[in-house]
Amino acid sequence: MRPETEQELAQMVAGAAGPLRIVGGGTRSYGLAQGEVLSTAGLSGVTLYEPGALTLVARAGTPLAEVEALLAREGQCLPFEPMDHRVLLGGEGMPTIGGVVAGNVSGPRRISVGACRDFLLGVRFVDGMGRVLKNGGRVMKNVTGYDLARLMAGSHGTLGVLSEVSLKVLPVARASATLALDGLEPARAVAALSRALGSPYEVSGATHVVAGAARTLLRLEGFAASVAYRAERLSSLLAEFGDWQVLADAGDVWRDVRDVAALQGAGDVWRLSTRPSDAPALAACVPGADAVFDWGGGLIWLRVPEGTDLRAELCRFDGHATLVRASPETKLRLGVFPRSAAPLAAIEAGLRARFDPRGIFTPGLMAPGGRGI
Ligand SMILES: Cc1cc2nc3c(=O)[nH]c(=O)nc-3n(C[C@H](O)[C@H](O)[C@H](O)COP(=O)(O)OP(=O)(O)OC[C@H]3O[C@@H](n4cnc5c(N)ncnc54)[C@H](O)[C@@H]3O)c2cc1C
Repeated sequence: MRPETEQELAQMVAGAAGPLRIVGGGTRSYGLAQGEVLSTAGLSGVTLYEPGALTLVARAGTPLAEVEALLAREGQCLPFEPMDHRVLLGGEGMPTIGGVVAGNVSGPRRISVGACRDFLLGVRFVDGMGRVLKNGGRVMKNVTGYDLARLMAGSHGTLGVLSEVSLKVLPVARASATLALDGLEPARAVAALSRALGSPYEVSGATHVVAGAARTLLRLEGFAASVAYRAERLSSLLAEFGDWQVLADAGDVWRDVRDVAALQGAGDVWRLSTRPSDAPALAACVPGADAVFDWGGGLIWLRVPEGTDLRAELCRFDGHATLVRASPETKLRLGVFPRSAAPLAAIEAGLRARFDPRGIFTPGLMAPGGRGI
């Protein structure tokens, strides 16, 4: 199925007899959802862009590259710097803006500016009964009751098919500097990242990469004079951890952090969300694993031997673990998404029953007790 208009999309969903698998660019489908493919590729194009109002509206199937190129021409960007899952997962597709929103895909700047959902002004989508729903608008101060836009961000196509998204955008920073230090142990690195994030110097990226060698990275952005001043002060503040190198142009470094490039290749990849202070002990449960600690340690990507049940290895840790890259057999056996606690699972089931009473959208994915398929 490949609708060209929202109306066609609604008719197709209403008329669907069996399960549907929503596909944007097909670059982020880390579940094993079955069903007839419902492609959003025909729902493409930026419908409104007002640089002065920092607002962009695009149909869900618009390629992310098209959105980013349009913004770049005006010196603007998607501030949450969505990661490109193709680096980790392989694949040939073109990421779409709808897929970014459905997965709430965000990068290292999330620590300072927020996630994709925090820049989502509004959505239009088709629910499981083929009804067209809209929520939010084109300005931040819109008050519309239930914040369905935020609900859709991160729902991975389990509640509806996005047809259009409105996003707030921001100017690209004039200058940036990156502080880098090699060889820290994870506990020392997280301590350094925490101190930097607790400082007044507005850190916009705080990452520790352990892939063979270990490297700790801190990013500062803004006007050139401010960045230079803050880099100097931050180096002094963190002097006890070592002699920080200041990299003037580290765009590629942060693109690799964003895309978790250090973990591409073989092995299963897990994404753990936890308290930064718990991160070093958690990673130590898996000796020798390559790791990327982002958001000051709040997000940990781990590469482990194929088939490892990381949730079992970590016992009862305070957070959640998603199996992002593994063989279909391992995903089936371990489940992709974490199981929610009973009260949350009941809310999720209620939402699914409300928006998709026939259960046609990616059944099993993120469902209570589901196996992530
Ligand atoms: C700066 C910062 C500090 C943090 N501090 C803490 C902390 O102190 N303690 C703590 O426990 N956590 C903390 N976190 C983690 C935070 O709570 C998680 O990031 C959040 O709960 C998961 O949302 P997400 O959008 O990042 O994840 P996503 O990747 O969007 O989703 C994560 C999982 O949530 C489930 N999910 C998401 N959306 C839906 C949906 N619509 N329907 C059903 N299931 C869904 C899925 O299982 C999914 O795998 C922190 C995060 C940040 C950025």
